[in-house]
Amino acid sequence: MNCPHCGSDNTRKHSIIYQEGTSHGKGEASSWGGAKYTTEHLSQTPLAQRCSPPERPGIGKLLSFLGILFSAWVAYQVVILFRVPPERSWWVKAGAFFSSLALLRIFWSFVFGRHRKARYDELYAAWEKSWVCVKCGESFVEK
Ligand SMILES: [Zn+2]
Repeated sequence: MNCPHCGSDNTRKHSIIYQEGTSHGKGEASSWGGAKYTTEHLSQTPLAQRCSPPERPGIGKLLSFLGILFSAWVAYQVVILFRVPPERSWWVKAGAFFSSLALLRIFWSFVFGRHRKARYDELYAAWEKSWVCVKCGESFVEK
């Protein structure tokens, strides 16, 4: 694979650099009570950091906040829709409200989960085809 920038063939895959430059260390430590536990530490070279695989993208704070607001609103509508009689005790309303909330939560994670997975797969596939030129430092994607 030749670098499109300087033409050098001294290029390496991102995935290789990442594996080379990342080490998971395990250490043993003992707590105050004498119980032993293992600690894990991650060390990475700056280049390995740059060549890291994509992180699983999150929904984003704003979107999840809006999701919660929307779910609460829908759950409230459900309570109204089923005409929970006002003389009924509050826990019936609360029950209807929270069970709708729980159902919506499952629905959201299903919708967003699928979307995120597709996006992540795309990024990951691109990462697997990414190269870096050792000579000039340029990153490029294999075609
Ligand atoms: Zn180059």
